[in-house]
Amino acid sequence: MKTVIANWKMNVGVRESVALARGTLLTLRGRKTIPDLVICPPDVALSEVRKVIARSSAKLGAQNVSWEVSGSHTGETSTRMLQEFGVTHVIIGHSERRQHLGETDEMIQKKVAHVLAEQMIPILCVGETKLERDAGQAQEIIRHQLSVALQGVRLRGGDKLFVAYEPIWAIGSGEPASVGEVVEMHRFIDSVLTQLFPDAPEGQISVLYGGSVTGENAYGLLRETEVDGVLVGGASVKLNQFKDIVGAAAEVLEAQQTA
Ligand code: PEP
Repeated sequence: MKTVIANWKMNVGVRESVALARGTLLTLRGRKTIPDLVICPPDVALSEVRKVIARSSAKLGAQNVSWEVSGSHTGETSTRMLQEFGVTHVIIGHSERRQHLGETDEMIQKKVAHVLAEQMIPILCVGETKLERDAGQAQEIIRHQLSVALQGVRLRGGDKLFVAYEPIWAIGSGEPASVGEVVEMHRFIDSVLTQLFPDAPEGQISVLYGGSVTGENAYGLLRETEVDGVLVGGASVKLNQFKDIVGAAAEVLEAQQTA
């Protein structure tokens, strides 16, 4: 299976989210095979977007969550609150939160563990800076981020975990990682995850790529077996682009079925 995750960030209000959700569902229409689709609107639009996608296969995701159950945490949103809106997936550790809001691997670990404990699905984002890549430290950085964020995390039978490899230099820059760089890093991530979760059955952990994915480059990325899907920011709020990304995932799935 291939998964396409739309991260709308703080780019759309409630009314725009409703229109975008309707348009996003249309990208699935008329296809024999469709990828798993997760839509992550801003929290304020969750309720309305839920109504739009209610009768579709699309899932609802949040862009962040608190690791606390409840209490005096001004401005935070809990897993239980998200569940009231039908949220099943949560993006955790996005580089924008790491960079601008001081989110650390230790905080991210608490969120991942809490989200899994609440039977939700974490989408754990990891990625290196350009400086770190140029210094040959990319794998070391990713290993560190994964080891800390997943420390002590247990995956039970029904659990699911997404890891999104999102090189910071590729996010929103129009400069995606090359297919070769993505495949190499995904193989490395797979090897780290196998060490961390030696008993995880096939399909329990999926590794996605994110960073300037567009309608033009999506097929080349998604046809790689190491790429279980894509996390899309900018192009997820441009319906003509997003339609092509969903189309690329559908094409890859159809080709797999006929092979
Ligand atoms: C992101 O923010 O997760 C992302 C991948 O953004 P973009 O697609 O715009 O690079």
